[in-house]
Amino acid sequence: MNETRMGTKCIQAGYTPGNGEPRQIPIIQSTTYKYDTSEAMGRLFDLEDDGYFYSRLANPTNDRVAARIAALEGGTAAMLTGSGQAANFLALFNICEAGSHIVASSSIYGGTYNLIDVTFKKMGIESTFISPDCTEEEMHAAFKENTRAVFGEIIANPALTVLDIEKFAKVAHEHGVPLIVDNTFPTPINCRPIEWGADIVTHSTSKYMDGHGAALGGAIVDSGNFDWMAHKDKYPGLCEPDDSYHGVTYAEKFGNAEAFIRKATCQLMRDLGCVQAPQNAFYLNLGLESLHVRMPRHVENGQAVAEFLASRPEVTKVNYPGLPSDPYYARAQKYLPNGGCGVVSFELEGGREAAEIFMKHLKVAAIETHVADARTCCLNPATTTHRQMTEEQLKEAGVPAGLVRMSCGLEDKHDLIEDLAQALDALKA
Ligand SMILES: *Cc1c(COP(=O)(O)O)cnc(C)c1O
Repeated sequence: MNETRMGTKCIQAGYTPGNGEPRQIPIIQSTTYKYDTSEAMGRLFDLEDDGYFYSRLANPTNDRVAARIAALEGGTAAMLTGSGQAANFLALFNICEAGSHIVASSSIYGGTYNLIDVTFKKMGIESTFISPDCTEEEMHAAFKENTRAVFGEIIANPALTVLDIEKFAKVAHEHGVPLIVDNTFPTPINCRPIEWGADIVTHSTSKYMDGHGAALGGAIVDSGNFDWMAHKDKYPGLCEPDDSYHGVTYAEKFGNAEAFIRKATCQLMRDLGCVQAPQNAFYLNLGLESLHVRMPRHVENGQAVAEFLASRPEVTKVNYPGLPSDPYYARAQKYLPNGGCGVVSFELEGGREAAEIFMKHLKVAAIETHVADARTCCLNPATTTHRQMTEEQLKEAGVPAGLVRMSCGLEDKHDLIEDLAQALDALKA
């Protein structure tokens, strides 16, 4: 049979039950695994045999769900983490250490920005932020001799900018450095960044992949394309023996296909323990089984809501890469031909006050600090997540006081639009 298509991968990749075995990926609710001899277990510790010995490092439920995500992204290996934050932390820390430098797009999730700008700095890892729209020359100028990774988001949360993946990959590779991208918003249903040159893909699976706001989680997928040994002076952690793990040299023993994920599992997960609970992996998998059916609906609702908002006089600006008037429209057409996601942001005339009145009147959409699940929700960053900022600082951060971020769920789009219409009408009263 030919390679299966995305819809089939969502349902079946990563787990093929044998005769009489559970049809659904079973939850292996066990911290530990039994062996007949110490020698057999020792071979696992030495990475001579494959198997499980402690669920902080690996668990069969998590591995099967990770294998499904690897198949969806077209990668060679993957792992789950306890959250999206943990995924980005491990992906970067796997190849950076004190004295390293990261080049990152400035248009990324606030939590990731903080991780790179503040927490990594405390660990001795420096960074340079660049505009997602910078020229190749500007991008080259951001690199230093100690740059070890380039990071960006395919569709940024919440700015909704679209990354020029090919350009970022090309420049990163010219410096002998991998491109790591966070593909949380499009999911592999709408974009497969590895096909455009990304080396490592990360996810907050808490968003569309789980899709129901049920379980926090993250994932890291390796393309297997980055040649670590060709840049071994930069990546001693992968290309020289790991004394903390029986002297294994990951890139030699596991090759480009598996080295990155093996190191992140055996070394970082072992030491940091930010593992995903197998029960959460099970919920995540239920979400994956309908991802290919849900994403087009999120896009349909996002597009309809964005078009409706753009038609209303109370709305001064709509950010949505699916609108021809959006500055990222052309790039979205290239990288996201089937649409991007269901998240729309917009500004109301009347600023913060108007946003508060408008949101108070919404009946279908709820006020929540979340995005990308089945239920439509919205947030006014100026009065919540960015509450401590002055009007001036808000403007600088590109978060005007009247900005509303709306995550379109899976409800009927006509109800979403009617809800928005009555809440906008309330502004006139
Ligand atoms: C939410 C989010 C994260 C963080 O994920 P958590 O699962 O909340 O830790 C990282 N990146 C993006 C793009 C996100 O939207």
